[in-house]
Amino acid sequence: MSKGGWWIVLRTCCISRISRRQALLLSVWAALGLHMNTRQSLTATIVYDNRPYDPQLTNAWGYSCLIEAGDWSLLFDTGGDAQTLRTNLTRLGIDPRSIGTVMLSHFHTDHTGGLQAVLSDNGHRPTLVVPQSFPYEFKQQAGEHARVVEVSGAIDVGEHALSTGELGKSIIEQSLLLKTSDGLVVITGCAHPGIVNIVAQARQQGEIDLVMGGFHLKDAGAAEIDTVIEQLKQLGVKRVAPSHCTGDLAIRMFAAAFGAGFIAVGAGARIGMWLPGGWQPRLTSMFDCE
Ligand SMILES: [Zn+2]
Ligand SMILES: [Zn+2]
Repeated sequence: MSKGGWWIVLRTCCISRISRRQALLLSVWAALGLHMNTRQSLTATIVYDNRPYDPQLTNAWGYSCLIEAGDWSLLFDTGGDAQTLRTNLTRLGIDPRSIGTVMLSHFHTDHTGGLQAVLSDNGHRPTLVVPQSFPYEFKQQAGEHARVVEVSGAIDVGEHALSTGELGKSIIEQSLLLKTSDGLVVITGCAHPGIVNIVAQARQQGEIDLVMGGFHLKDAGAAEIDTVIEQLKQLGVKRVAPSHCTGDLAIRMFAAAFGAGFIAVGAGARIGMWLPGGWQPRLTSMFDCE
């Protein structure tokens, strides 16, 4: 059976808004492996975060998020240390050797420190996408274990993903954009160039559905956070999943401001999305059970 078929069966178990008959029909459809040009799903799993979510995972300062769509996978940032990343990947049943692309947002150790967990496995040589401004020695060293791609402007980093390119002045950072059926998903490391600036840049590529990652508002006061929320809403952001360096106050305010569009996340949280195109079952609540 296709991966998509099993996905539907598993999902069926936690869908509360459909009837048992509909669930049975879906299961039969999946079991028969009828493809019907089905719409492919994409998942974003936070594998490293100082904010807790899945009690089985270890929390440490930093951020890392694994994007998977079919056979394609991209690890956005690597957290602060390889041991914690390795442990969390193992607990989530993810083999580091299956990760084809690693993308580093910016040159701070809470985002680059776990890289060894993905590069050290024998025979595994992923693509490593880094801002061009990364130190020469770092790129040279990483180049012994990975195919290094340097980014300056916006560039595709996969069939469904692109980089914003280098943004910011003092601390240069790239963010990841995913193309989904509901619009773009923006994933930020620490958002040093400013979360509003990053989203405004991303907005040039299309409508924004979801913004997730570190928003870097941990030292911001309520007035500043209010302004950021207002500006993100003006840019058309429908949903947010802030974590890492966003800060407790900002996270509480985002939850209040976005209501159902707020997704509580931390290490181990998984968000499902659909890729554009194809046919999908008419079950809009399919991913509400996360
Ligand atoms: Zn940083
Ligand atoms: Zn950070």
